Amino acid sequence: MRLANVNGRLVIRVADGDIDVERASEGRFPADPSAVLEDWEAFSAWAQALDPASVEVAPAAAAADLGAPVTRPRQIFAIGLNYRDHAAESGLGVPEEPPTFTKFLSSVTGPEGEIVLPEGNVDWEVELVAVIGRTARDVSREEAWSHVAGLTVGQDLSERVGQLAGPAPQFSLGKSHPGFAPMGPVLVTPDELDNPDNIELGCSINGETMQKGRTSDLVFDVPELVSRLSRTVTLLPGDVIFTGTPAGVGLGRSPQRWLQPGDELVTYVDGIGEMRHRMVSRPA
Ligand code: ZN
Repeated sequence: MRLANVNGRLVIRVADGDIDVERASEGRFPADPSAVLEDWEAFSAWAQALDPASVEVAPAAAAADLGAPVTRPRQIFAIGLNYRDHAAESGLGVPEEPPTFTKFLSSVTGPEGEIVLPEGNVDWEVELVAVIGRTARDVSREEAWSHVAGLTVGQDLSERVGQLAGPAPQFSLGKSHPGFAPMGPVLVTPDELDNPDNIELGCSINGETMQKGRTSDLVFDVPELVSRLSRTVTLLPGDVIFTGTPAGVGLGRSPQRWLQPGDELVTYVDGIGEMRHRMVSRPA
């Protein structure tokens, strides 16, 4: 199943268009895209039994009308140094535990549009994003996938000067400027993917490939992250995990490279879709 947020309303995206969840369920499930994650098991059962021929299917909404498929996560986790080649280009070792920070909620945006570049050096990080569908506390690696509602594409945009400043580097702030947590275009349930543990992901700037990797190279893969995080925190339905980025960020290049006004950043995960963002300068 593929879910999208069309102008704030949850839809199921099928081959020939979009099914509005609130209308098709006659109000049993609300239009709010985050609300079904609170009732994920009932929603999935209803959606799987739904006959598309029995409901209205609207033409698929344009990318410009899509918002982030998760609108109100209570917790957003992000993992650093989770691909060996990226840890190496960052000049750091492969961690023994997943280095975890947050991206604050106000940084969430949709899969297409403009992103204002703040002062400093703004870098790109393509990431697979996992969305929790069932409360997870002390779950094992084997149980972990059953707590994931779906996967989406994310960018962990990062302002490196602020991120790396001071005695306790400010990962959470440097990665939380407005628009720095785009997600989309759709939330895809793991069963839709041939192998949810081995997916290609990447990004390009103005058509030039910057990153290309595979989630099979994750140091801590999705089940491991869910399991390990759940030993410390309780993962709640609708929570989001940015799982880390492969090599090819601007920080690791020689010379270093940063996003510039006018740049078009295209970010994809195979089997899920792509996002497209235009960088613009901060208004004077
Ligand atoms: Zn990241």
